[in-house]
Amino acid sequence: MALIRQRKLTHQQIRRIEKQQKSSQDSNDDALMDGVVMAHYGKQLEVQVTSLPSKTPEPPVVEDGDPEPFWQPIVINDIWRCHARTNLPMLATGDNVRWAADPNTGFGRIEAMQPRVSLVQRPDRYHKLKPVAANIDILAIVFAPLPAAAPTLIDRYLVVCHHAGVRPLLVLNKSDLLANEPNTETATLLADYAKLGYDSVLTSVDCPENIAKDDPNNEIARGLDDLKRYIDKKLVIFAGQSGVGKSSLINALLPESAQSVNVISENSQLGQHTTTTSRLLPFDPQDLTQGGIVDTPGIREYGIWHLTPEDIISGFIELAPLAKDCRFRDCRHTKNSKGCALWQAVAEGTVLERRVENLVTLQIEADTKPY
Ligand code: GDP
Ligand code: ZN
Repeated sequence: MALIRQRKLTHQQIRRIEKQQKSSQDSNDDALMDGVVMAHYGKQLEVQVTSLPSKTPEPPVVEDGDPEPFWQPIVINDIWRCHARTNLPMLATGDNVRWAADPNTGFGRIEAMQPRVSLVQRPDRYHKLKPVAANIDILAIVFAPLPAAAPTLIDRYLVVCHHAGVRPLLVLNKSDLLANEPNTETATLLADYAKLGYDSVLTSVDCPENIAKDDPNNEIARGLDDLKRYIDKKLVIFAGQSGVGKSSLINALLPESAQSVNVISENSQLGQHTTTTSRLLPFDPQDLTQGGIVDTPGIREYGIWHLTPEDIISGFIELAPLAKDCRFRDCRHTKNSKGCALWQAVAEGTVLERRVENLVTLQIEADTKPY
């Protein structure tokens, strides 16, 4: 262990150091602004300018004949590449931050993270839990008549929402497929979740010609507008199995302007050949309060989630309160468990057998995962 020799400082020295620290703190505060993390590349992040610093940095004075030095003015809604202070918690797309920009380099530094209202996380390939998206309001659980809806997957996402503090919204896409061929299974599924209090919308991205698009009474044609109303001014994630139409929905919901992103620091040589883990696509790139979509390819397809059996049961909102009445405190709620209140409720017809089965499946999965 290294020994640090303590130096004795005179009062005058201490006062001078304190004064220096205070003035550097003040100038630091003057440079800070608000921003939103728009994308995440591992070490680097993209931050959109949402407020200007209280003191605008002055561009350097250029003498006649001198070459023009690099100077990137700070403009509201521009996006800057940033590093984060090392002592900050791991940041995620959607985080609100305090940061400072360096116009001399075109790079920024995140100094602080604002409190989060929600946090979606997932384990990485080393089984370490990583934040995926912060401050998400709604997780849209997308499913379709084809490929057929997997209720297990829906239940899994509902648990994730509960745990992350995010409101779930069931989105039955490709509802045009129901027009010709009513699908009772899908209808029952929706009715079951409605009874539990979950909201749902029916959408169709590819509205076929035989369905009048502007007919206000046509439920299928109205679908996208219903969805838009739900997610207006909200930050949304789309999840669900492959092929249900998530990319189609995201493209239909975003204006052209939001689909190409202009990032300041991309002009420089740094930060190329990087793939993003998640990106915030705003409904209005000039006004982040209008909400947007956080596109996280990793979360779109599956949900292998780091949850304990307790986390899991609290996400089965109608079952959690019943579990207290199981005869044994460590009841596993498997079928034929002695005195299991959940199976008693199934027998009485007050809860769905399928939900209890899914709960057990997810709890077993949580117990047997490798971390
Ligand atoms: P993702 O894998 O969930 O992102 O699904 P995609 O957006 O790639 O869509 C998968 C396929 O379904 C594509 O061929 C789409 O054209 C089709 N599709 C998407 N939305 C609809 C819809 O509302 N109705 C119908 N009939 N097909 C759709
Ligand atoms: Zn039980």
